[in-house]
Amino acid sequence: VRVEIVAVGTELLLGQIVDTNSAWIAEQLAAVGLDCHFQTRVGDNIGRIRQALEVALGRAEAVICCGGLGPTQDDLTREALAEAMGVELRRDPGLVAVIEEMFTRRGRTMSANNARQADVPVGAEVIPQRLGTAPGLICPLGANGAQVAYALPGVPHEMQEMLTRAVLPDLARRAGEPAVIVSRTLRTWGLGESQLAEVVAPRLEALDAAGPGAPTIAFLASGIEGIKLRLTVKSPDAGRAEAALDLEEAELRRLLGPALFSVDQPMEAVVGGLLAERGLTLATAESFTGGLLASRLVATPGASAWFVGGVVTYASRLKQSLLGLPEGPVVSAAAAAAMAEGARRRLEAAVGLATTGVAGPDPQEGHPPGTAFLGLALADGPAEAVAVRLPGDREQVRQLAVISALDLLRRRLLGHDHHSIWVVGDDSPAQGSGPAVLHANGGGSTTAPSGR
Ligand code: ATP
Ligand code: MG
Repeated sequence: VRVEIVAVGTELLLGQIVDTNSAWIAEQLAAVGLDCHFQTRVGDNIGRIRQALEVALGRAEAVICCGGLGPTQDDLTREALAEAMGVELRRDPGLVAVIEEMFTRRGRTMSANNARQADVPVGAEVIPQRLGTAPGLICPLGANGAQVAYALPGVPHEMQEMLTRAVLPDLARRAGEPAVIVSRTLRTWGLGESQLAEVVAPRLEALDAAGPGAPTIAFLASGIEGIKLRLTVKSPDAGRAEAALDLEEAELRRLLGPALFSVDQPMEAVVGGLLAERGLTLATAESFTGGLLASRLVATPGASAWFVGGVVTYASRLKQSLLGLPEGPVVSAAAAAAMAEGARRRLEAAVGLATTGVAGPDPQEGHPPGTAFLGLALADGPAEAVAVRLPGDREQVRQLAVISALDLLRRRLLGHDHHSIWVVGDDSPAQGSGPAVLHANGGGSTTAPSGR
């Protein structure tokens, strides 16, 4: 089954919002092995939406539309689909009642416009709405319904929920695929993309040789979230699928070692879990990350059990007066370690974690942009620091510094690279925009992730 995506919305054409929906849908399709050769963006114009649909249906068996299901006059996806099907729109009184009730539950009254969202092309199946007000549609098309067009809302989380719940299973049925498709995502940090590919290569070969029915592995480089490996398996039943994923996960864990930090969990949640298990509290001191580290920690539900707070000390004067840094350079391993120790003591926590560095675009204290020093202080020894060289622009450097700092703490809590102080090694041009090599005094080495 070939699938095309049609994203509807004039704002997408004007560049006012970025079409992240198509990218997300495409990723999901790829994960389950469905081909998506074309993606279209079209404005809120009924003739042009219809044209986009017809072109797509000339090349593919299925079309996923997103956007244009709202209540206003410029939301025209329903109308365009009815025209493509050659049928009328009919208002579904049951759907009107559901939408009305959603408004009542939120203490609002439904405006007459909203009833438009209950208009259904004759012969189409409704995907009930759970998060928003617009229901989705499954529209049979072509001779004997050999083709299909889906309509999903434009609001990303509503679209994602409906695609997962209704569209992917429907596509799997049409593709004659086995009953279940299960995937899980292993997240890694500390290996560059090409290094990761090298480490995982034996598994890719083994799975290739195993043939159909074996799990597939997809690389998803998503920067600040770590480099992800998504395992997907198709199977006649869920139990067998999970068992196959368990086996493959075990193989990859063996290969990846400490670089694998979680399955389907963000870094900050992993770190929070480790702190909670050990009954430790954490305080942060941030310079160039300006609160990003604290913000990421607080994004974790239940963070109050282990995160006490943080300080943003941007000016050198504050690093000295609040955290007790001696006078001298503030972009240095010594400064990072002192900041971590200062945060630990001043905020009365078991652990202090600190960031200082150069976000760019200009160098500072002789260090090029992308230089970061990450400090870590625990009660059981002297504070330590790690130097990393991070790629990207100001925003990316700050984000990558945060996940690198969290990873430093994670590894320390797990007892990896114990008491080692890492220093920046050579970041030869051969590495491109990718990783800088770090050497651990205590043996072993790792690289900063490319973050792409
Ligand atoms: P609503 O019921 O909220 O009106 P809708 O189906 O009409 O939903 P749109 O009006 O097209 O959807 O879009 C609603 C919002 O969803 C947009 O303002 C935008 O923020 C977001 N959005 C729409 N399309 C996309 C897209 N392709 N990628 C990312 N975000 C999108
Ligand atoms: Mg709308």
